[in-house]
Amino acid sequence: MSKHPIRERVGAMWHARDGKLTQLLDRKPGGFGLGQVPRDRAPDGTTTLVCGFCSTGCGLSVHMRDGVAVNLTPAVDYPVNHGMACPKGWEALAPLAAPDRATVPLLRNSAGVLEEVRWTAALDRFVRRFQALQAAHGPQAVAFLGTGQLPVEELAFLGALAKFGMGMVHGDANTRQCMATSVVAYKETFGFDAPPYTYADLEESDVLVFVGANPCIAHPILWERVVRNRRQPEIVVIDPRRTETAQAATRHLAVRPQGDLELLYAVAHVLVREGWIDRAFIAAHTRGFDGFATHVAGYPPAEVAVRCGIAVEDIESLARLIHSRERVSFWWTMGVNQSHQGVRTAQALIALALMTGNIGRPGTGANSITGQCNAMGSRLFSNTSNLIGGHGFDDPAARAKVTAVLGVDDARIPTRPGLAYDQIFEAIARGDVRGLWIVGTNPAHSWINQRDARELLARLDFLVVQDMYTTTETAKLAHLVLPAAGWGEKDGVFINSERRLGVIKQVARAPGQALSDFRIFQLLADAWGCGDLFARWRSPEVVFALLKELSRGQPCDFSGVGGYRELDADGGVQWPVRAGEQVTAGAERRLFADGRFFTPDGRARFVFEAPRPPAESVRTPYPFTLLTGRGSASQWHTETRTGKSEVLRKLAPAADHVEINPDDAALLHIGPTDWVRVSSRRGAIELRAFLTRGVPRGSVFAAMHVVETNVLTFPSFDPYSRQPAYKHCAVALERIDGPSRG
Ligand code: SF4
Repeated sequence: MSKHPIRERVGAMWHARDGKLTQLLDRKPGGFGLGQVPRDRAPDGTTTLVCGFCSTGCGLSVHMRDGVAVNLTPAVDYPVNHGMACPKGWEALAPLAAPDRATVPLLRNSAGVLEEVRWTAALDRFVRRFQALQAAHGPQAVAFLGTGQLPVEELAFLGALAKFGMGMVHGDANTRQCMATSVVAYKETFGFDAPPYTYADLEESDVLVFVGANPCIAHPILWERVVRNRRQPEIVVIDPRRTETAQAATRHLAVRPQGDLELLYAVAHVLVREGWIDRAFIAAHTRGFDGFATHVAGYPPAEVAVRCGIAVEDIESLARLIHSRERVSFWWTMGVNQSHQGVRTAQALIALALMTGNIGRPGTGANSITGQCNAMGSRLFSNTSNLIGGHGFDDPAARAKVTAVLGVDDARIPTRPGLAYDQIFEAIARGDVRGLWIVGTNPAHSWINQRDARELLARLDFLVVQDMYTTTETAKLAHLVLPAAGWGEKDGVFINSERRLGVIKQVARAPGQALSDFRIFQLLADAWGCGDLFARWRSPEVVFALLKELSRGQPCDFSGVGGYRELDADGGVQWPVRAGEQVTAGAERRLFADGRFFTPDGRARFVFEAPRPPAESVRTPYPFTLLTGRGSASQWHTETRTGKSEVLRKLAPAADHVEINPDDAALLHIGPTDWVRVSSRRGAIELRAFLTRGVPRGSVFAAMHVVETNVLTFPSFDPYSRQPAYKHCAVALERIDGPSRG
């Protein structure tokens, strides 16, 4: 048998015959894990790694005793969080010890029950079922879904293995659910997916305008950075709900749901009308302003105010405020991104920044706050909507670069992106996709129109779920579960919202036979028969070096950063860091200080379009608008991890509830804590009533963490980003005596 690096690594566990993996030695749980935590992890000291929940990317100091992580505290000298952490960060180690960890591969048997199997059997079944589907129905018959929770090396490995190695045509990531809108908005206006800001801008603004963003809850440490602002800033929140951030703001514009695009055009209208624009910046650094000015002339505040449900003076005074202060920054997140017209709304915010010259200076910017810890890494390196490294699949020079750096034949590189997430589900419905490999995400809970999603997942000929837990709604549907290590149990790099690359490290041993996703990919590559293509992918840090080369010459160039050790010592580094460039440790860096953008002519674009009504109308018998969002600072997405912490559970709402305006509740005879049936055209769920004037009349709010919330949501999508519009669907309310099930 010829020597092979992967077989070398797992040593006697492999036996190959006729080029096929046929046997893996039986290993009891605990005998086939990640081994001991590496010695350089200061077995009795402290080591810092980036948090594995949100995109803020806080540094957490993990305290080790005898090579075991025993506790953590927020890193005092990390430039992101300066010694602060939200509850999720403080409890980051707790989910690792959960009893429902996946510790062995599980394969569904002929009786329909998931039963333990050896890794050899699991790998063999993965390969045989997926290869058979491809042989019978074509390479497009198997697709993958990844996650912004993986470090960038693993994301790159997944995308490269699936597309270059296994020949899959379609794959996407759960970043489609949160950040696709910002990606498209930035690409079309700046020429690259490039959030321009640094967190110091939160502290250096005179005016901060938050649209569809609730950082008090969703990004608490970013809110702490706002609180540190010493410039007496005006804080403006544009949101239908009186969120925690709106309550802390100096102004709240309670716009009607989905009215934000029109409102922003009306603000631009006033700025143009009054001449409150930076003509010199527009002339020197942008293209398309005249068309934009003509467009917004059609949005006079007097008309827009009526449609948006706010006062004319609020629009006029917001424009005056933007004009009157030197440093204005515009921030958005899911309230914008998860809209049927999210891309154009984000671009309206970008336009406000461009036309007033609020970009490239301290305290300014058109700033998308990312969602997941490594959503930025997924956006650039997952090999889904971009060719790995933020390139175009159809760019011959980029393809040649990938060929040279990775040693991949051009013939193996697709010529265009595959289907988006929702289109993959449509392909399942048509029978075009019959096998699906889901890594670290939970669409049976999180995907819009959940009943359809579950029905389609159940229809697959073969569903593989690679995850930390066996109990996720998606893992329960799987034919094969591959047990994966989680954050804290492996090495890699995340890229946060402000483009900062930060290191994660192994500080704990994965349980049982669980392996890092990186090692699972290595084993699958070998089992599939494409191991030679990934022979150089020996470790996350080796792959990081490959990714540095792939980034070279791109706007996201980080070829000038060192290895993990240097990144660690510097407290992370924000791209770009070109080869030979010196960056001061802890420096905060923003883009576009020179007014040059990443478009071919160096000019930013104004992109605009007439607003459209939401796809589902809100009228009898479904007269309320359902708004969804984050429930509390202690909850994360589908709660597969935060739900494991007793502390975080105590900090979260005690019962799943729906927020209702008291006036609406009175008309429906709904009292505080009554049970309410919330129904849409797609199904009904039962929740406790929570009466609050935080939601406007005619709207209700339910948290995304509630497993049934997406039974209600309507599957419409931004046409440019294909991001689901979670923030709007029509529902009805009805008081009931109690839950119909216990
Ligand atoms: Fe982690 Fe985000 Fe909380 Fe910071 S704000 S500790 S990155 S979850």
